[in-house]
Amino acid sequence: MISYLSRIRVNFFLIRTSILNRRLSTIDINDEDYSLSTIMTDNVQVQEGKANIRLPEGAVFYNPAQVFNRDLSVACLRLASKYHHENECKKIKKNDPNATCISFDQLSAGVRQENGLKIAEALSATGLRSIRYAREIPGIDTIYANDIDAGAVESIKQNIELNDVKNLVQASHDDAMNLLYSHRKIDDQFHVVDLDPYGTPAQFLDGAVQCIKKNGVLCITATDMASLCGNNPHSCYSKYGSIPLHQPFCHEFALRMILYTLHMQAARYDRIIEPLLCMSIDFYVRLFVRIGYGSAKAQSQLGDIATVYNCVYCTSFFFQPYGQASLDERGNAKFKYAHGPPVGTNCSHCASNLRVGGPIWLGPLFDPSFLNELITSIEQAPEDSYAYRDRMLSMLYVVKEELPNPLYFDNAKLARVMHTHIPQNKLIKSALLNAGYRVSTSHARQDSIKTNAPHHIIWDIMRAFAEQSSTKRAATERLNTDSPYYRLLTKPSTIQVDFTEHPEWESEARKNKLIRFMGNPHARWGPLGKAVTKKRRSNDDTDSIQNKKQTKSDEDLSTEENL
Ligand SMILES: [Zn+2]
Repeated sequence: MISYLSRIRVNFFLIRTSILNRRLSTIDINDEDYSLSTIMTDNVQVQEGKANIRLPEGAVFYNPAQVFNRDLSVACLRLASKYHHENECKKIKKNDPNATCISFDQLSAGVRQENGLKIAEALSATGLRSIRYAREIPGIDTIYANDIDAGAVESIKQNIELNDVKNLVQASHDDAMNLLYSHRKIDDQFHVVDLDPYGTPAQFLDGAVQCIKKNGVLCITATDMASLCGNNPHSCYSKYGSIPLHQPFCHEFALRMILYTLHMQAARYDRIIEPLLCMSIDFYVRLFVRIGYGSAKAQSQLGDIATVYNCVYCTSFFFQPYGQASLDERGNAKFKYAHGPPVGTNCSHCASNLRVGGPIWLGPLFDPSFLNELITSIEQAPEDSYAYRDRMLSMLYVVKEELPNPLYFDNAKLARVMHTHIPQNKLIKSALLNAGYRVSTSHARQDSIKTNAPHHIIWDIMRAFAEQSSTKRAATERLNTDSPYYRLLTKPSTIQVDFTEHPEWESEARKNKLIRFMGNPHARWGPLGKAVTKKRRSNDDTDSIQNKKQTKSDEDLSTEENL
């Protein structure tokens, strides 16, 4: 275990705690005895990245499981700052061709850059994220570290002093909605809005899309995965206007539901969403989305929205787009009604009932050029820049190789449907490649099969696999001829399945022996309770009860991980 952890290079990452009236102690995050409760005691100081944060009395603010989220955010916004700086230089040179502009690499973090990035962290808690941005990203003008809780704002102010970033970070005591809505005028808008709420970000999206400058970046975290993964479809619908599906692909489905919601919020203000990087990580999802302007383009994104029909037995999925929209040669949006339905009243593979889910976003989850540049920038950064450098790179390599086709099958689920043992990834991927289709894994699930093959090809392959494993004959002899399993087993195949190992079945990341999916660094890795200062907690017992319910709900999700 120790060697495994040292391999992922988190062993240098220490959380130093100085507890008042006790001797200074240092806690190693790799220590098996390390307990999250240790850092939930009063007056604790935490070192993360280049920030040194003092947690307020009685707070439940700091979760080491979110370090990866903040590392990834620093890396992405560093790139956003670089793009912004290069655009500013272009503007300067356009006005004065003889003007000089220093390169982004010559800028220093911690130094205010006039006309640099203006960032809003709407739900800042201790200010940790804002302070990391200030100390680790060059080219920043101002950061608003906002929180509605007076105790949290006091903590932000203390931490700004402690980290000597008064020149960049401004503490703000306001309702996040007020902050966002009061910055809608073009001159007041932000280049970056970061939403990292406890639970759902849905209620903040309307304000966020209105206060972002053209081509600004919206960063969103959602931790309400129990709801997004289908434990409470009605609750998810009330937040996102979309029905989740409780299937192995639920984590990617969650990303696509949030993007649908964001598209709807943005399109009503003629704004376009351009996903730069959207990932399912541990117990939450994190999205980085560029917000563009333009009514015709916003309308044309209608073509990326679809309802999903999902088989209750074999998990096959069928998309019903809402229309076909595109831009004509003059840049006007053209609309054509979609044809449908994409499937009959029952599954076309096993004749089982179909559930209806969505709407979801069918478009891309990441921008390949942004992703390539992000990987390069992390690789070129000093090794101690990010605590989770290797984990970030390994996940980003999986994302890079991911096919754009929405959703995926899962090996274990395919095996359960066909009553076989779990097929090796190598076999299924080779069979798909030998049939002339493309295949990849999804970063959201280790045993996933993402392919551009029609689903009947998947079932042809699984039928051939069942034949090999001798379950087919035994099963067909005793099965009810009206069962979905019997129908899947006895359907005529459309291809000659070839399981010969294909040279391209293995991804580049796997060939290069990158650890693509890492386990949790230690026990009790997951969401904590909502951040509440001692003062506020004592005044709000009702809220506390709701927090416990939500935490319980999120914990319940861990039991769903084996879907
Ligand atoms: Zn089916």
